Amino acid sequence: MTRTTELTADVAEILLSEEQLRTRIAELGAQVTADYAGRQPTLVSVLKGSLPFMADLMRSIELPLRIDLMEVSSYGGATTESSGLVRILKDLSASIEDEDVLIVEDIIDTGLTLNYLLRYLRGKKPRSLRICTLLDKPARRLVEIPVDYTGFTIPDQFVVGYGLDYGELYRNLRFVGVLRPEVYASSE
Ligand code: 5GP
Repeated sequence: MTRTTELTADVAEILLSEEQLRTRIAELGAQVTADYAGRQPTLVSVLKGSLPFMADLMRSIELPLRIDLMEVSSYGGATTESSGLVRILKDLSASIEDEDVLIVEDIIDTGLTLNYLLRYLRGKKPRSLRICTLLDKPARRLVEIPVDYTGFTIPDQFVVGYGLDYGELYRNLRFVGVLRPEVYASSE
């Protein structure tokens, strides 16, 4: 499997097209621009899934801003479930004390990862801390998360594309789609 056309064939349904993503992210950028007027926010993105969203969102925010990147991984083997035990693989590279921090996430599912991250970042004493997620799957939420900006609320389906992976693949698809069940079946 070497071509993205073959990866696309593994997708049963396109949930969000490239155009839908572009339009909504422009709206989010405009909203953030208005809300943070006169400020200089720091966007903290959580690798690797948020990479395309971060790249597009930051370019639709018309303010001076900084970015920083964190990488976290959940303990536990399952590839489609979150365990809630989070390990920091890459920490912030600069202090966020007294900064207006906006967390840029790909998807909130159980909320366990972000719950951990919120506590961790609050401890670094930012002036403000808000959350912007591209996708929200509220059906499986285990902890309450105060989400400030949501791109799309989606049903309880495992999605790939536009940064989101299955077995580290599919991140480079330009849309968000639902994988064919056979793809899981053949690798589990
Ligand atoms: P949570 O801790 O909220 O359950 O899960 C957050 C992380 O689980 C996300 O950042 C993402 O890495 C992964 N995740 C949750 N739902 C999905 C999904 O539908 N597709 C993919 N590819 N990853 C998901």
